[in-house]
Amino acid sequence: MALGSNLGDRAAHLAAAREALGALPGTRLLAESDVEETAPIGPPGQGAYLNQMVALATTLDPAALLDRLHDIERSRGRERRERWGPRTLDLDIVRFGARRLTGSALTIPHPELPHRDFWRRELAQVQARVSDALASRP
Ligand code: ATP
Ligand code: CA
Ligand code: CA
Repeated sequence: MALGSNLGDRAAHLAAAREALGALPGTRLLAESDVEETAPIGPPGQGAYLNQMVALATTLDPAALLDRLHDIERSRGRERRERWGPRTLDLDIVRFGARRLTGSALTIPHPELPHRDFWRRELAQVQARVSDALASRP
């Protein structure tokens, strides 16, 4: 999952998102990447983003997870106006195990993954941390 914020207290929005994700039913936060600041994508005049990738283990299916993500975004005051406009919190499903879905409501893997270097970097980091966490389990 990718977390992003470029409006308000960005670090607080990401922290609240991590907490809310870990508290979803049947869901556990496995690992997180570093938080990084990136230039905004989309219309000019908006502030830089804080971004982070996290890995979850969940029994939710992708559609149910997406509904929960929208709830969490709303709980942080997300308003949807223009495409790629500024937002308090954006939660995207980047990958869901090996699953592939194509649809207007949900495409997995996220179609922008190949085009966003910061996502690829954060994904590699979080994958390495998941491996470390699993390897060090008693
Ligand atoms: P981008 O997806 O290019 O990063 P965005 O995050 O700004 O753009 P939003 O306005 O947040 O786009 O989302 C628009 C819609 O995209 C969501 O309501 C959701 O139905 C759909 N969507 C499709 N695939 C995904 C996915 N993998 N993760 C999250 N939302 C998705
Ligand atoms: Ca996004
Ligand atoms: Ca989104």
